[in-house]
Amino acid sequence: MIIVFLGAPGAGKGTQAKRLAAALGLPHVSTGDVLRSAVERGTPLGKQAASYLNRGALVPDETMLGIVAELLDRGDASRGVIMDGFPRTEPQARGFDRLLEERGRAVDHVLLLDLSEDEAVRRLTARLWCPACGAIRSVGGGGPAVGDACPCGGRLEKRSDDSVDVIRARFAEYRRLTQPTVDYYRSRGTLKSVDASRPVDDVAAGVLAAVGTAGAPRRAAG
Ligand code: AMP
Repeated sequence: MIIVFLGAPGAGKGTQAKRLAAALGLPHVSTGDVLRSAVERGTPLGKQAASYLNRGALVPDETMLGIVAELLDRGDASRGVIMDGFPRTEPQARGFDRLLEERGRAVDHVLLLDLSEDEAVRRLTARLWCPACGAIRSVGGGGPAVGDACPCGGRLEKRSDDSVDVIRARFAEYRRLTQPTVDYYRSRGTLKSVDASRPVDDVAAGVLAAVGTAGAPRRAAG
């Protein structure tokens, strides 16, 4: 099953995509995590992508399609994949359809996590992440602080692209480039909208309902 998460920065794509991946037993692919890890490791991809990430700009479509083609051919993607942060432009969406068609596959569900920009900015400025496991935690109200331990053993940090200037740039990119992607999927009838302003468990239930597995616990194989 191929499932795509769309939504503005801060709408909760990472959190919900991870939960759905665990519920369905499918790999979670965050293109942002792939790029951040490449930047941290200083790989050729990382060197190319760093300046885009630091400015909140989108990495070129051809680069992204190359990354995703490789990911689709990994053995663990054979049953399906939960895409988080890709496709993010209409050319990426069309290119993704082509890559899938070449492999006899197609997008099954596109989920738009719907959240106002004000609420999304509030969430982004109040979050920390763990570079070791990718977990996102909210600060304030007794929540964790920078440098605190993550349950996985890593240390919580502020994501370098969660500064106010970069957040603004990421929203501008969202409106300019990702909104047409939303329209593309809407016109094809594959898009379902989930209200992302609710508590995280309610959004997760909405996501499961949207993919037609509402509340069903996953059974172990055999
Ligand atoms: P994210 O973690 O999804 O918010 O992505 C963080 C950053 O990675 C974005 O601001 C972009 O610079 C880059 N990025 C992630 N996914 C894509 C994509 N599909 N297309 C272009 N750039 C991307």
